[in-house]
This record gives sequence, structure tokens and C-alpha cells, in this order.
Amino acid sequence: MGVTVAKFGGSSLADAGQFNKVKSIIGLDAGRRYIVPSAPGKRTYKDQKITDMLYECQKKAKAGLPFSEIFDSIVERYVDIAFELSLKIDILPHLNIVRERIQGGASADYAASRGEYINGLLIADFLGCEFVDAAEIIFFDESGAFDADKTQQIASKRLLNVEKAVIPGFYGSLPDGEIKTFSRGGSDISGAIVARAVHADVYENWTDVSGFLMADPRIVSNPKTIERVTYRELRELAYMGATVLHEASIFPVRQASIPIHVKNTNEPESPGTIIVPDKEAADNERLVTGVAGKKGFTVIAVEKDNMNAEIGFARKVLGAMEDLGISIEHMPTGIDTLCVVVSDAQLNGREKEVVDAIIEKSCPDSVEVYANMALVATVGRGMAKRVGTSARLFSALSRENVNIRMIDQGSSEMNIIIGIENDDFNAAVNAIYREFA
Ligand code: ASP
Repeated sequence: MGVTVAKFGGSSLADAGQFNKVKSIIGLDAGRRYIVPSAPGKRTYKDQKITDMLYECQKKAKAGLPFSEIFDSIVERYVDIAFELSLKIDILPHLNIVRERIQGGASADYAASRGEYINGLLIADFLGCEFVDAAEIIFFDESGAFDADKTQQIASKRLLNVEKAVIPGFYGSLPDGEIKTFSRGGSDISGAIVARAVHADVYENWTDVSGFLMADPRIVSNPKTIERVTYRELRELAYMGATVLHEASIFPVRQASIPIHVKNTNEPESPGTIIVPDKEAADNERLVTGVAGKKGFTVIAVEKDNMNAEIGFARKVLGAMEDLGISIEHMPTGIDTLCVVVSDAQLNGREKEVVDAIIEKSCPDSVEVYANMALVATVGRGMAKRVGTSARLFSALSRENVNIRMIDQGSSEMNIIIGIENDDFNAAVNAIYREFA
């Protein structure tokens, strides 16, 4: 039987009812041996996440303000869960220690991490399995960066002999033993780290959506779910704005070629999305896996006759950007043109400075600036080597009257990125989705 690491997000553990769902999911497959919980999330739209409440307590304590009202509601939530599930553990002494330490000036990371810690204690009791504190097996170095080697070594050794364990997500420890958290949503990373440490066959990420969608549901109504996506495609889609998993959670499992299965705790029977290593994806699947995009870019088009014969021309243009500390997103080129695509956040109103610097460094014939641009990426491993995909893409856009200002196809032929005007963004995403879904 395969080994599964199952991470459950905050909404999957928001109250006793959700705990019961989690228990029945775990009970369905004896391979689900390592459980990584988040802290309880929102029960309703207006509710607060425990993590946010803990941050608030710490902030108030630091400012010398009372925080007992918020802390009391945290206690109430955990005590309610323990009571409704008739747990054996007495969680109050643990909560009292947290309260005292926050009162005594504990760090924000310590305070926030206790959401997962206390929840982990409850779940371990509920499932009847061992609790392994993440501080014992997940490490950061002096600079605060995640220490992958030390973690892998110690976590593997500690976990491989444990039949079933609960390891709270979101945090680990620094060399001096202090608690440090990942960035928000970081339990996804903890789950991936545990999966790598125990050489899991699959890393399940249980959340409140049934996997990744082919397009943003705020733009396309009712988009289909992506059943299978490769790490590489996901990276492209995530870079272009599609989000479900914490981006950094991909790396530990990708390195170890462990698939991630994103599933919905509230609809466990729906297939969800499986993220597979690049080499494991079958070829004959869907042509396009997903469409994603972002608004807010500027294209700087540099023209010079015979540019291709001038050694170092691109370096001069890019050198100008580098000198100004501006990072670029894409660089599509023509015979005598070279375009630099920059996000407006990077550019930060410095168009004139950029143009002047490019003129000074590279002596072009002309430099044009096109503002208010959006980028849309059509991503699919099935597109490579198939004739006619771009023809279909561009016909779909022309039917919607979308004017394409830039085209960039990755050398892997796995994505086609187009530059359009911000105003055409929704029409373009819908047109592409309809053509390929
Ligand atoms: N509880 C933490 C947060 O709200 C970590 C997580 O849920 O992944 O960000």
C-alpha cells in the first residue's frame, strides 16, 4: 500500500463538523498515515481565521493593550471542538501557556504558529495517532531561510518509523529553538516537506475547492476543472495569476517526483486535480490545460535597422533596465524590433527614465511605449508538436475583435502568451477558453 501525506486546510478544519469529515476521509484509505493540519479557518464568510486572531493578540500585547477578549474567543473555538468531539485531551493548559507567552512578549511567529500546534494536538487525539511537533523536524537556518537538508535528514529519521502521525503545518524552528513560520498559507509547504521526508507516493492537499479550474471563475462562468496538470504547466499558470496552492509548496515534492492531489474536503468524491511530474503526463490529453492572465503591463518597443547584425544590442537595452533596477517579464523580438514587457508595478511611473536610458545606451532608431497592456497565457503540454493550435487561438480572438499587440511562444511550445489591451482582457480569456475547453 502506498504512503500518503494528507494536508488539510483551515476551512477543512474550521469546526467539529469539519473534523468529522476529515476523520472519515482519513478512514477511507489506510495509506493516509501522515496528517498535516492548518489552524481552524473561517466557518462562515464573516468569521475570522484563528491565525488572524492570534496575530491580533500578539500585536495588542506588544502595544501593551489587553487582548483577553480575542484570546477568549480562540479558547472557545478550540474548547467547542474538543467538547463536541468528546476528546480526551485537556486543551486548556496548552492554551493557557500560549496566553502567558503572548502576554510575556512572545514573537508574532510563535503566536501565529500556535493555531496549528493546538489544532494538531486536538486532531492527534481525535484520530488516535502520535503528535509530532513541527519544531522538532522542520528547520530554518540563522538567516531565516528554510534548511532543506537538515529538515530532510531529521524529519525522515523521526517519521519513517511512526505508523501514523499528525504534524502541524506552517512552522518549524530556528537554530536557537525559536519558532519561525513560513509565509501565509504555508501549511501547504509543510505538507510538501513531510511528503518528501517520508518518500510519500502522493501528497494530498485537501481544501474547499475541487481542484484547479481551467480559467478564473470571476472571468469565465463555470469553467471546467483541470484533471491533470504537470508541475511545469502549473508553474506557468501560477505565474500568470492562477492560485490555489502556495507557490513554494511545489518545490519539495517536485524534486522528489511526488504527485500532488488537490481535493475538496466537502466533496471528497469529486476527482479534484492531480499535479504530476512532467515526464509522467500522457501526450494525448487535452490540448490546452488552462488560460490565465494579468493586467497592468507596459511594452517598450525598440526599433533599429539591422539590429540583428549589431553584436550586443540586446545586452545594451537590457543593461539600461538593469541599471534602473527594473526586472522584465518577457522579451519578444522581431527582425528589427525588440520589445521589453515590464509590469507597471516594476515600472512605477519611470517610463521616461527608461526610454532615455535605452536611447543613451543603445542608440535605436525609435522607442515606443505601449501602456495599459494585459498578458494572457494559454498553457498546455498538449500544444507542443500539434499543428494549428495558434491558428485556432488567433481566429478565436479575431472573432471577438481582440487586437493582438504582442505574441510570445515559449521554446517548449507549452505556452503562447499574447499581449492585448487591458480593456480586451475578459473578452480574450473567454474567447480562448471557449475555443479550447
Ligand atoms: N494558518 C496559516 C495561515 O492562515 C497557514 C495555513 O493555513 O496554511 O496563513
